[in-house]
Amino acid sequence: MQSTTRITTGLRGSRAGSRPWLMGAMWLVLGIYVLHLHFPGYGVGEQKETWLSLLPVWIPAVVCWLAALRTRQFRGQLSFAAAAVTCYALGASYLAAAQALHEVRPFPSPAMVGFLLFYALILACLALLVHRQRRGLPWSVVLDCTVGALGAAAVVAVILTSLLDSAVLTGSVAPTAVAAAYPVLDLLLVAAVVGIAASPELQLGRRWILLAGGLLMFAATDVAYALLVLDGSYLSGTPLDAGWAAGLTLVAVWVDARSRPDTSVNRALKGAWALIVPTVATATALGLLLVASRVNVSAAAVVLAGATLAAAAVRTQLAFRQLVRMSELRKLARTDDLTGLPNRRAFYADAPLQLAGDAAQPCALLLLDLDRFKDINDSLGHDAGDLLLRQIGSRLVVATRPEDVLARLGGDEFAVVLHGADAERAKTAANRLRAALTKPFTLEGLTIQVTASIGISVSPDHGTDVKTLLRKADIAMYKAKSAHSGHHVYVEADNVHGERRLRTLHELRLALLGGEFVLHYQPKVNLATGEVRGVEALVRWNHPDRGLLYPEAFLAIAEEAGLMHALNDVVLGLALDQAAEWRAQGHPLSVAVNLSASCLADPQLPMRIGTMLTERGLPSTALIVEITEEFLMEDCDRARAVLTGLRTIGVRISVDDFGTGYSSLAYLRDLPIDELKLDRSFIAPMRHDPRAAALVCSTIDLAHSLGLSMVAEGVEDGVIYEALARYGCDQAQGYLMSRPVAAEELDNWLTGRRRALAAVAYPSGFTDFSW
Ligand code: C2E
Ligand code: CA
Ligand code: CA
Repeated sequence: MQSTTRITTGLRGSRAGSRPWLMGAMWLVLGIYVLHLHFPGYGVGEQKETWLSLLPVWIPAVVCWLAALRTRQFRGQLSFAAAAVTCYALGASYLAAAQALHEVRPFPSPAMVGFLLFYALILACLALLVHRQRRGLPWSVVLDCTVGALGAAAVVAVILTSLLDSAVLTGSVAPTAVAAAYPVLDLLLVAAVVGIAASPELQLGRRWILLAGGLLMFAATDVAYALLVLDGSYLSGTPLDAGWAAGLTLVAVWVDARSRPDTSVNRALKGAWALIVPTVATATALGLLLVASRVNVSAAAVVLAGATLAAAAVRTQLAFRQLVRMSELRKLARTDDLTGLPNRRAFYADAPLQLAGDAAQPCALLLLDLDRFKDINDSLGHDAGDLLLRQIGSRLVVATRPEDVLARLGGDEFAVVLHGADAERAKTAANRLRAALTKPFTLEGLTIQVTASIGISVSPDHGTDVKTLLRKADIAMYKAKSAHSGHHVYVEADNVHGERRLRTLHELRLALLGGEFVLHYQPKVNLATGEVRGVEALVRWNHPDRGLLYPEAFLAIAEEAGLMHALNDVVLGLALDQAAEWRAQGHPLSVAVNLSASCLADPQLPMRIGTMLTERGLPSTALIVEITEEFLMEDCDRARAVLTGLRTIGVRISVDDFGTGYSSLAYLRDLPIDELKLDRSFIAPMRHDPRAAALVCSTIDLAHSLGLSMVAEGVEDGVIYEALARYGCDQAQGYLMSRPVAAEELDNWLTGRRRALAAVAYPSGFTDFSW
């Protein structure tokens, strides 16, 4: 029982409220009335005839009120509709009563109040309906509605030409006003209905057709009646009389349906169909104006048709402006706002068209990535980086043909699709693009040299879709970058390398966050005393799957990916932590840390290092930075700035792998350098080659003459160790003494060595060791 109640409540306002018997009765009565009008004189008495004419207008009124009272959501608009139908029914009843009493129909009669109120109330209902549908209608919708409404009004005005004219010509003022009111109100009603129908944006559901149909039928009957009356050919009791009741019945069905939830899918018309009503209205208004030049139509019709065209013109203007705005938006969405070149989105849209252009022709995709752009961004700031990208964009435009697709994919990455280009032509184009960048760029008064690496993939050999070609060009680009070859055409073998590289890169980023890097330390032995005052810190990656990795397995990738700064900070942090620990244990060892050439681009480096030392309570002598000759060669002015900054805070500077680069003596003299580390490629041959030994000897003298101390790297045997000591070399580092080892292992090694030194007290400290 309870559940039945709940179901009934749940269905309230849906099936339960529709009272099918009442709806059935409404249709039945209307049907009988129409039949009666069609076959008059079927024994229905005059009395009954009156009732039969009133029932089809009163039942809709009842249906409307029941529905309006049933719903809460739409009570306002449905009450207006119910009141409208009731007013009409009251007017009709008054007329019927007057007729039954054989009274002459007064003109204007009180019935007219009811009829006129019908229009006012139903128009109010429509207004509420539209208002509920959309608040803040866009102007385009309002204009569509206006065009539709005016067009429809113009058509009705033509039909009513004679009526409107006669109303104006009729004698007394009051009857004229009332007589003119009906056609004008019909015109308004039709205009409102068509106006609402003109915009599919007003989604009124499929039921709307009932209300529109009912009101149009009502207005049509009214107009036909008025015209017939004017013509003097109106006959009471024809099926035309049922027109009003039929219209009201449809209105009542709509009201009833509206009081129930709408489950129909509201499909708005799309594309050209959406504009069907305004288009027809405009065409009709135009036709009407043409006809008006030959035939007599009411002035109102001409005015309305003119207004329709004016509204349509405004609508067109608006549509045009919207179109321009849309195309501007589209252009904006496809443009890279920094360089003005097409962006990634545009590239993905245009490149497939180029690729598909002529299947017989090959197509090449070039992916250009600037070398060390991150350094420029980091050191000169993003504004300078942006400025550079803009200038590069302009140069690339000049270096490509108009038919090529050139785009900035993001960051410092540009892509070009060359139609009709095989690998050879792509290489020529790559050279042209790179050549376009050789002339130095000027940024904020600085002259900057920029190079780029270009990866090339060719369709159809390497793939036919943009995604595959881009991926392969990307792999080829990294190959070009690591080989410093400028450009590289993809080959299948790159893929394996490329994928491993990508994986390593991903893991590297995680490792930097996850503390997977450790340092090994290799001692530097004083050749005169045998003492160890300093160590070199060498980074290793404790890879979770691949075990301990040496620098050559990941440094180049970190450098390419611009992760060197982060790695550098990690290494510095670990090395200084260890230095602080040794100092705390009473063994103040200096730590030498390797700085990659890219660190030169970081003007903040000296300051950061200073902070790191202070935080750990370390003197600046605790740190030595090892730089390569490459570092000095890259940009002498900036190298000087960074090195001077380091020198100012008291950090010593050592030139690593000395002899392998091309640094001139002038650099050594001018730059604030403390130490040279002679590369092991000079040390190993000393044993067998007297010329090599002589070279090492004179280089040691040279260093000393410049006021620099000398460290020999890669010392692997005792003979060399002794020779170096003889030549006056300051320190030695190599496997002979110790490989790079973890800090604890180095501690053990140092302890053993101190003990041995103390026991034997040999000044040189070498011959006593049993390595
Ligand atoms: P490097 O600075 O010249 O470091 C010396 C390299 O020579 C080390 O290789 C070391 O293990 C090796 N070595 C030392 N003694 C001997 C010897 O007697 N014989 C031979 N054959 N080799 C010896 P490792 O550790 O693999 O480092 C290689 C390079 O990686 C380093 O060369 C340095 O350029 C770079 N590197 C290492 N750690 C770092 C770091 O933390 N930051 C940066 N930027 N670079 C680093
Ligand atoms: Ca080094
Ligand atoms: Ca070295």
